[in-house]
Amino acid sequence: MNFSDLGLSEKVLAAVKSAGYEKPTPIQEQAIPHVLARKDVLGVAQTGTGKTASFTLPMLSLLESGRARARMPRTLILEPTRELAAQVEQSFSSYGQNHKLTVALLIGGVSFAEQLKKLDRGADVLIATPGRLLDHFERGKLLLTGVDTFVVDEADRMLDMGFIPDIERICKLLPFTRQTVFFSATMPKEIQRLADQFLHNPVKVEV
Ligand code: AMP
Repeated sequence: MNFSDLGLSEKVLAAVKSAGYEKPTPIQEQAIPHVLARKDVLGVAQTGTGKTASFTLPMLSLLESGRARARMPRTLILEPTRELAAQVEQSFSSYGQNHKLTVALLIGGVSFAEQLKKLDRGADVLIATPGRLLDHFERGKLLLTGVDTFVVDEADRMLDMGFIPDIERICKLLPFTRQTVFFSATMPKEIQRLADQFLHNPVKVEV
């Protein structure tokens, strides 16, 4: 299978080409068509399998269509650590080099002021750690009513780090009608329970 068989946009295919990827990895083959079809997806995959591209590439395609109204965040990606959030932001920005999108990285350990400036200007995509996202929300600076795609990456690490209550809170702040994607390296029962609660008829993909 080739990337061009997966239904991705021309712009995204151009970015894949410039990244030098020749073939989709198994998780990409399985997940990309479902994410593009706006299905909820429960992905079981480890780091190193190409899982980041399996959700960021179709999300970029989806962001090309749809609303052209006031710039509210449409995509929210949660990561358990600052480092992972920063890595995913880099991948997203590099795959999205041909898209005129604003990506805000909301992580702890850096000043609120810079992040606020970016939010004020209007961010299309938020990549965040749960604690900092909730801090921004509590300060009244974050409108989440336009989020139509929500990703929880590394869900089992979120569990290990005690972030499940934060994730439950965040899920409840988002519109009910949305697409939700969970990725986890393993599927402990707490993550399965969270998925049962917040995903609707998810497609399970596993590598
Ligand atoms: P991840 O599992 O998302 O952390 O990705 C692991 C590494 O694989 C990253 O360095 C990606 O740039 C790379 N990668 C992702 N997809 C592909 C692909 N289809 N072909 C070659 N490398 C890839």
